Amino acid sequence: MVAGIYLARLNRRVIIVDGGESRASLIPRSYNHPAFPDGIPGQDLLRRMHDQAGKFAIEHVVGRSDALERSDGCFQTTVAGRSLLSHSVICATGLVDILPPWPDATALVRSGNLRLCPICDGYEINGAPVVVLGNTRRAAREAEFLLSFSDCVTIATMGVELDGVNPRDFKPSMRLVTHRLASHHPAAEDRLSLEFADGSQMEAVAAYSALGCKPQSDLARSIGVELDEEGRIPTDQHQRTNVERFYAAGDVVTGLNQLGVAMAQGEIAAVTVHNDLRRL
Ligand SMILES: Cc1cc2nc3c(=O)[nH]c(=O)nc-3n(C[C@H](O)[C@H](O)[C@H](O)COP(=O)(O)OP(=O)(O)OC[C@H]3O[C@@H](n4cnc5c(N)ncnc54)[C@H](O)[C@@H]3O)c2cc1C
Repeated sequence: MVAGIYLARLNRRVIIVDGGESRASLIPRSYNHPAFPDGIPGQDLLRRMHDQAGKFAIEHVVGRSDALERSDGCFQTTVAGRSLLSHSVICATGLVDILPPWPDATALVRSGNLRLCPICDGYEINGAPVVVLGNTRRAAREAEFLLSFSDCVTIATMGVELDGVNPRDFKPSMRLVTHRLASHHPAAEDRLSLEFADGSQMEAVAAYSALGCKPQSDLARSIGVELDEEGRIPTDQHQRTNVERFYAAGDVVTGLNQLGVAMAQGEIAAVTVHNDLRRL
C-alpha cells in the first residue's frame, strides 16, 4: 500500500493486488509504531492507509494471484478473473505465522493472549509470567529474549521432546514443561490459563508462539527469484531482487518483521521502480 501511494504520487499507473490477509489486521493495538503515542489497532492503521490510497488514482484488485508469468518483457497474472499486465512488480506478500492447532488460535492473536513477536509487544508484559510454545532452538531463543520483560518464562513443548536444545543451557529463570497441553481458556485480568496433561496449571499474560512462519514467496520463486534458506527474498539496498524489474518489500524480505520496516522498504522499492522505468 505504501509503495502504491508513493508510485501514484510519482505519476505511475498502479494496480494493488491484495489478498486481504495482512498480518497487520491481527494486531490488537501496536504501541511501538511511530507517531501513535496511545497505540493504534492494526485494523485502524490499515483503514487509514486505504483512505490515503483512495486519494490517488490507484486501482485496487481484491483477490489472490496464484500464478505469475513473464510475457513480452512484462509480468502477467490473473486475479478475480481479470488479466493484469505490468512492467514491474513489487512483491509484498508477507508471511503466514504457524499457530498452535487450536480452534480459537486466531481469536487469541486478535485479543493479544497469543502473540508472535516480542519485539512488537514484549514491553507490555511488564514483569508478568509468559509462556513460549515450541520445542526448538527458536523457542529457546525466544524465551531468552523474553527474559528482558519477565523473570517468569516457561517453555511449553506441548507433549514433544526438545529438539536441538539442552535444558541445562537454559537461564535459571526459564522453566520447561514437556507435558501435553490439555486445555487453555481465558482467565481474570486478560490472562490465559493453561492446563497440562499432568494436571498442573499456570496463568500467563500471553503465550508466544515460536512455531515459525511461512514466507509467501511461491510466486516470486516461480519466476526465478532466488530465496534464502528460510524461503524469504533477499534484496539489494534498493529492494531489487535477482530478477529484473521484480522488487520485494516487507515481511517476505529477509530482515525484521515490523510495520515501519515494511513501509520503509515499500517507499524505497517505489522510488527504485520509478527510477528504473525512467532509464528504460
Ligand atoms: C499479532 C501481530 C502483532 C504485530 N504487532 C506489531 C507491532 O506492534 N509493531 C510492528 O511494527 N509490527 C507488528 N507486527 C508485524 C506487522 O504486522 C508486519 O510486519 C507487517 O504487516 C508486514 O507488512 P507486509 O506488507 O510485508 O505484509 P502483510 O501486512 O502481511 O501484507 C501482505 C499482504 O499480501 C497479501 N498476499 C499474499 N500473497 C498474495 C497473493 N499471492 N496474491 C495477492 N495478495 C497476496 C496478503 O493477503 C496480505 O494482504 C505484528 C504482526 C502480528 C501478526
